[in-house]
Amino acid sequence: MKVGVIGGGAAGLAAAFEVVRQGHQAIVYERAPFLGGQASTFEVGGARLERGYHHLFTSDVDMVWLVHELGLGHKLAWIPSKVGLYHRGRIWNFTTPTDLLRFGSLGLTDRLRLGLATLAIQRQKDWRRYEGITAAERLPKMVGRRGYEVVWEPLLRGKFGQHYQDVGMVWFWGKIALRFASRGRGMAREKLGYPMSSFGEVFDTLGQRVQQMGGKVHTSAVVRRVLVQDGKAVGVTAELPGQGLTEETFDAVIATVPSYVFPRLLPELPQEYLLKLTGVTYLAAVLVVMALSQPLSGIYWLNIADRSIPFVAVIEHTNFIPPEHYGGQHLVYLSNYLGKENPMYHMGHQELLDAYLPHLRSINPQFDKSWILQSYYHREEAAQPVIGTGYSARIPAHRTPVKGLYLANTTQIYPEDRGTNYSVRLGRKVARLLLQDYGHPVVGELPVPAIRNSITSLGEW
Ligand SMILES: Cc1cc2nc3c(=O)[nH]c(=O)nc-3n(C[C@H](O)[C@H](O)[C@H](O)COP(=O)(O)OP(=O)(O)OC[C@H]3O[C@@H](n4cnc5c(N)ncnc54)[C@H](O)[C@@H]3O)c2cc1C
Repeated sequence: MKVGVIGGGAAGLAAAFEVVRQGHQAIVYERAPFLGGQASTFEVGGARLERGYHHLFTSDVDMVWLVHELGLGHKLAWIPSKVGLYHRGRIWNFTTPTDLLRFGSLGLTDRLRLGLATLAIQRQKDWRRYEGITAAERLPKMVGRRGYEVVWEPLLRGKFGQHYQDVGMVWFWGKIALRFASRGRGMAREKLGYPMSSFGEVFDTLGQRVQQMGGKVHTSAVVRRVLVQDGKAVGVTAELPGQGLTEETFDAVIATVPSYVFPRLLPELPQEYLLKLTGVTYLAAVLVVMALSQPLSGIYWLNIADRSIPFVAVIEHTNFIPPEHYGGQHLVYLSNYLGKENPMYHMGHQELLDAYLPHLRSINPQFDKSWILQSYYHREEAAQPVIGTGYSARIPAHRTPVKGLYLANTTQIYPEDRGTNYSVRLGRKVARLLLQDYGHPVVGELPVPAIRNSITSLGEW
């Protein structure tokens, strides 16, 4: 079969890889001049760094499989994480589960309640029990109002802005379940994974492998339309560098674009499917990355439970991967997830930096503007889908209403949160589904996922 793949991020490249591995032909079209999509990199201090912070959990079995399959296993480091929570002018360590017992912002009873409730959520194996309720309704009942207001509510608000009350409890459950799964037995200190020459290298290598196995990968190639004849996808029109608008015929097409882009590629879609696509709101990730002459804190991942501070997390990458890797620079992401209704969504690099800078002294009173050697600005429009209640009934199917046209994007990851691991899984799963639909046998199995009864891990979607 000859399969067209729209998008050269984790899902698109993994889909193309699976198609060629199974003995068929794949052509990838990526709009950007580089591969990797949301996990792509830029250069800092002579090394590659992700535009948005990236790491792996030990439960990310599909990414671990991929990294090894590409011969990059020796570069995958597992490093103990240093997690903290900023509350009322102080950084609290949240690296080991016992750190909760020392969290002085809550009384002992509230701390215990928070710990026990988190354990109860993690122990709940049947996520469908949480389907009908939002996290904002359920959590205060489980952890108590005070624990909710101090810890979970600021984090939900931070991650989802004015949409935080819409987020389903299942999303929250997924976060907790996977976080605990990655701690392993005995609640050992969490280790996070990082491919030492970056996620960008993993996806570049994947693109090269697709080509070595007979596929093609085009960058700076924008797909304008999926060609449909008699209700069936028969090809795409794409703008290729130096060639203008070109047409290519395919037996089937896999689109890995965000749900709001997908309908623009087609003449029309039935209302029912269209509603599933448009029913999901995406938040943009807006990132200011600072290269500093000295460390800002001792923490890798610092959640900000204080809404007077205009960013939701401070991710000091060089408290995870040493600064020597980046020519001695200390790299810090100031992160926000924003909808268009938020004024900060519309701010440019300098305006945002000016708004953030006065608050860095809250994190480190010694901080001085002169520490900033360089700063960068990145945004990813389709970063975080807001997944509400009862979502399992509203997920758009991989088999779209157009025969031979398949969709694999982050809104179909459930109940896990989006991540490279799940996009790799989706891409491979959808490629296999497509080949089977056309009567071709598929060999090999996908890795056993951490959440076995999740929709992402089931074969039939
Ligand atoms: C700030 C941030 C931090 C993250 N942190 C982590 C982390 O720590 N660990 C982790 O595993 N994951 C993390 N993720 C999530 C992870 O990066 C994504 O879930 C994953 O990379 C998504 O892959 P994808 O292929 O599904 O989508 P994308 O990466 O969005 O790929 C879709 C591709 O389609 C292309 N495209 C769109 N329209 C067209 C068109 N018309 N023609 C051609 N191409 C088109 C886009 O350019 C894009 O490259 C993070 C994401 C963000 C934004």
